[in-house]
Amino acid sequence: MDTQKPAEESNIEPAGVGSEAPTTKSVNSEFFVIKPSPGKGLGAFATSDIKYGTRILAEWPIIRVEKYEYTLADINSAFDSMSAADKDIFWALHSCHGQDPAKWPAQGPNPGLPDELRERIAEQHAARVADAPSILSVFQANCMPFRAGGGVYAVASRFNHACMPNVAFAWNDNIQKLTLHAARDVRAGEELFVSYCDELQPKEVRAWSLAHYGFACECEVCADDGVEGSPGFKHRVNREKLQCLADVVNAISIDHIPFAMHFGPSHANQRLMALFEVLSIMKEENMFGSQMCIVYRELAMVCEEKGDYDNAVVAARKELETYLRIMGPDSPMIPRAVALARRLKSRTVEEVK
Ligand SMILES: [Zn+2]
Repeated sequence: MDTQKPAEESNIEPAGVGSEAPTTKSVNSEFFVIKPSPGKGLGAFATSDIKYGTRILAEWPIIRVEKYEYTLADINSAFDSMSAADKDIFWALHSCHGQDPAKWPAQGPNPGLPDELRERIAEQHAARVADAPSILSVFQANCMPFRAGGGVYAVASRFNHACMPNVAFAWNDNIQKLTLHAARDVRAGEELFVSYCDELQPKEVRAWSLAHYGFACECEVCADDGVEGSPGFKHRVNREKLQCLADVVNAISIDHIPFAMHFGPSHANQRLMALFEVLSIMKEENMFGSQMCIVYRELAMVCEEKGDYDNAVVAARKELETYLRIMGPDSPMIPRAVALARRLKSRTVEEVK
């Protein structure tokens, strides 16, 4: 991920179809090129119109750790096993070092945390406020999913962030690659963005998450969000509405809690209305990622609970259709979505009997 370093400071040439860059792999993509993005170093730009659901990249990382709570020692050890060519690519990526310590909590990690976790937070903090780039500061700024841990990718890590991304990413265990899919129709020339944070959260929370990558977001969702009538203001209002539907938002956040646990089994209509409202806002906000799949799944469950099997099937098929578009037919999520749609379909047949 390359978000802060101005293009003129970058020591690599834009890499794209037909151009050989000296320190990074050329991107032989029919869909995009990597080239300077104003104020953001390099970024990925569509070279043709891209249809919603198109797989634009499938990639194996240049450095990887298999555990989620990796330490400095884990990263340094993974770095030692990299090839010289991959190390060159790695060092050409953005680093999140050089941050102002005053912008981070002065007291350091919570003393109540286990020693190992406190040490991990302290290591990452030291890398962020250091004067020079380090293996950890580059890893942190570019880390994306890899199995149960994280990895840095020669190409995918070049995609910049937006709070309303047009590209969805996911680790695909079946093909052992990180995949990127267009999360809506994209026009030729548009910059391709992924989201580094939970974009359902309010701006203040997003800003805190993004500070870990070493930048302040000025995307169309974040910009002018306090100016009434501006597009940013509309996005703020929409995301505040999602916060008001807090139980629903919790149900679709990273630590997914089944929606039924929030309302209990006797409020199906209330849950149904809340889910429709969430779906409507998510569509308005172009949030067509995995969170939308979870909303469709919850919708299918609520319809089933109400005995409305026809609409339960419709919702389950929407979940499947969305996973197909943002993760592809080879994703491990597909059999699970197919199984739900089939189970609900069999209930409509039972009804007819
Ligand atoms: Zn933003």
